[in-house]
Amino acid sequence: MLSCKEATQLVSEGLDRELPLWQRLGLRLHVVMCRGCSRFARQITALNRVVADHYGDGPPAEVSEHLPPDTVQRIKSSLRQATPPADDQNGK
Ligand SMILES: [Zn+2]
Repeated sequence: MLSCKEATQLVSEGLDRELPLWQRLGLRLHVVMCRGCSRFARQITALNRVVADHYGDGPPAEVSEHLPPDTVQRIKSSLRQATPPADDQNGK
């Protein structure tokens, strides 16, 4: 079982490269059971989609039209430095 720190680390790494299957499975398992990491993964994945749409070849997402690239980049890098949501584990 991954710790929250490891899980959020994997979420961030997964933005840059394809994770090995066993890591993806471990991450998915953790996210299913951990509300804090679930929220973290959802937020960072949604944001990454904005960035990917903006810089990728695909059609631009509606939201990316409202965000200048440097702003998206700044948000993305600050999210990577975000601390894992460890407190949420006790919340239930
Ligand atoms: Zn967690």
